[in-house]
Amino acid sequence: MFANLPAAKDDPILSLGLAFKDDPRSDKIDLGIGVYRNEHGATPVMKAVSIAQQRLLDQQTTQAYIGLAGNASYNQAMLGLLLNGTDAFSRAIAMQTPGASGALRLLADLIASAKPNAKVWLSNPSYVNHQPIMQAAGLDVGFYPYFDPVSKQVDEPAMLEQIAKLGPNDVLLLHGCCHNPTGADISFSAWQSITELALKNGFLPFVDLAYQGFGQGLMDDILGLQHLAQQVPELLIASSNSKSFGLYRERSGVAIVVGETLQQATNARGKLFELARRSYTMPPNWGAAIVAEILNDAQLSQQWQQELNQMSQRMRDLRQCLAQEFALQSGSDRFNYLTQHQGMFSLTGFNQLQLEQLREQHAIYIVSGGRINVAGLAKTFIPRLVESCLAVGV
Ligand code: PMP
Repeated sequence: MFANLPAAKDDPILSLGLAFKDDPRSDKIDLGIGVYRNEHGATPVMKAVSIAQQRLLDQQTTQAYIGLAGNASYNQAMLGLLLNGTDAFSRAIAMQTPGASGALRLLADLIASAKPNAKVWLSNPSYVNHQPIMQAAGLDVGFYPYFDPVSKQVDEPAMLEQIAKLGPNDVLLLHGCCHNPTGADISFSAWQSITELALKNGFLPFVDLAYQGFGQGLMDDILGLQHLAQQVPELLIASSNSKSFGLYRERSGVAIVVGETLQQATNARGKLFELARRSYTMPPNWGAAIVAEILNDAQLSQQWQQELNQMSQRMRDLRQCLAQEFALQSGSDRFNYLTQHQGMFSLTGFNQLQLEQLREQHAIYIVSGGRINVAGLAKTFIPRLVESCLAVGV
C-alpha cells in the first residue's frame, strides 16, 4: 500500500525548532516558531484561562458529545466579540472548529461546494498553510501583490490594482491583523477601498484572524474587519484562539459565515455540518469551553484583556528596543520598519546566507525567508542579536 510513497520532506519551521533544541550553546536565540513568549522565554498559561479551567473542572458533570457545531455559548460569544454592532451580526452563523486551521479548511470546502471553480486570492507572501489548505479543497489559488521588500510596508496601490480586477468568481483572503509572515498590515483606508470594491465587483471577502489583540488592542485590531462586516452582503471569517488566549494545543477556533440573509447563512451552516461530519465530525471541547467561560464573565473577560494588553505591550516595547539598538549600532534608521509592524512577526529580508551564518556562527535561529518572531526575544538578548545581524551584513 505505502511502497510508492516518497520520504516526507521536513517541515522547515518545526525542524528549525528541533535544531535549536539540540544546539548546546547557552546563548542561543530562537526567533523561529510563531508562539508568544514572555521575558523568560516561557509561553505561560494566562491567569484568566487558569481560573476558567478550574471552574469548568469543578462544574463538569459529563464528557458526552456536544454536537456538530460544538459549544453554542462559545459560538454566540465569538459572534458577539467579532461582529456585535455591525450589520452582519443578524445575518451570521458561527461554528466551533479545531483551531483556525480547521475553520480555514472547512470554509475552503464550503466555497468549493458552493462554487467549485472559484479562485482564492492570497497576499504575496501569506501564511504558509493558506495555499495548501485552499488547494486541498480543490480551489484555484492566485496571489495579489502585498509586501514591498524595500519599504517593508504593504504596497497598497499595487494590491488595490489587482483587487480591483476581482469579480463574483473570486474570493479575497485577507489577514485580519498582524499579518503573518510580514508584520505589515493594511491601512484602514485600504479596508475601506476593499469594501467598496467588494460591493462594486461582487468578490467574496474571507478574513483570517489569528492574532486579535496582538497589535493595537482587542477591538482596534478588528476595525477593518468590522468596517467590511458593516457593508458587504457576504463574508467569511476564520478566527483563532491559539494566540489571543494562549490555547495553542487546545485547537480552538471558529468559522463564521455572513450571508445575504440569515436563511442563507443557516443553509451554509447545514453544509458546514455535512463537511465536518465527513472529516473530524466534532471539534474538541476544552479550549472553546474556556473561551466561552471567559467571554461570558465580565470580570474574567476584563482580566483576560489586561493580560492580552500586557503581551502586546511587551511586543511593542521589544520592537522599539530592537529598532533603537539597530539605529545605535548601525548609525542608520533603515530598521525603523520594525516599530511599524504589528504583532509577533516581521519579515526582515535577511537572505539565506545571512540566515545560515546567523545560525552557525551566532546561534540565532530564524526561519528561511527571514521572518522573525519578535516575541521570542528577551530585552537582554537585543545587543548581541543586533551585533550578530550586522556582523553577517544585514
Ligand atoms: N492563520 C494564520 C495567519 C496563522 O498564523 C495561524 C497559526 N499560526 C493560523 C491561521 C492557524 O491557527 P490555529 O492554531 O488556530 O489553527
